[in-house]
Amino acid sequence: MASKVRLYVDHPLGQGQSVPLSREQAHYLFGVMRMDEGVVLSLINGVDGEWDATVEKAGKKGGILLCQSQTRPLQTPPDLWLLFAPIRKERTAFIVEKAVEMGAARICPVQTDYTQSANRIRQDKLQAHAVEAAEQCGGTFVPPVDELKKLDRLLADWPADRQLMFCDEVLIGVPVGLPDISGPWAILIGPEGGFSPTERDRLHALPFAHAVSLGPRILRADTAAVAALTVWQQALGDWTTDD
Ligand code: SAH
Repeated sequence: MASKVRLYVDHPLGQGQSVPLSREQAHYLFGVMRMDEGVVLSLINGVDGEWDATVEKAGKKGGILLCQSQTRPLQTPPDLWLLFAPIRKERTAFIVEKAVEMGAARICPVQTDYTQSANRIRQDKLQAHAVEAAEQCGGTFVPPVDELKKLDRLLADWPADRQLMFCDEVLIGVPVGLPDISGPWAILIGPEGGFSPTERDRLHALPFAHAVSLGPRILRADTAAVAALTVWQQALGDWTTDD
């Protein structure tokens, strides 16, 4: 049997709640997925967990779903931000998708000294990728994707209690792991060109920043993002706890 369709809606979900569909959603469910009235699907909205809903009305330009029962409560990831320098469009989209699957709570594109200015981001497109990734991976939470911010500004306003896992390519071959500090964290991944000497000096001087190596080889930024998320989740995140 085909697996149940999972759809993100920007609407409250609750017992007996009816959910109106946009034209695009109606086209997807009834045109592409060929769903009829009475069929059950899964809904998420990033806040209310996952709900079974039935198709009440199916039309070409719209429709109505009716929430039946909650199938899963909201499950928020650990308080982990992913800061990364945008790279080529499809690789940036890959980073966002993987960050959602790997359980990042917030995705922050940052402009570093060596970030290519051609690598502009479309925040709305990246947010849509995050929604799709949550639909696909069974998530009930959708991390916000921020607009591009300058790294030095972000560091200047840094919350005092948040640790930063600074993935420093200069440390290749030096096995430097994560310090065992619980609480809020962020991961920082540089662009293809790496970090500038000024950035590296500044980062090394920050009390909340911990320079970490990702092994003896230079990883591409998209690989490094997945590797860093893996290392962090395994050491400090939700891979090892059952709550
Ligand atoms: N051009 C740089 C490599 C940049 S790789 C050079 O040749 O040195 C892109 C980013 O991935 C880096 O800024 C860093 O954040 C991360 N990264 C890649 N490999 C890494 C490693 N072995 N250890 C730590 N960080 C790494």
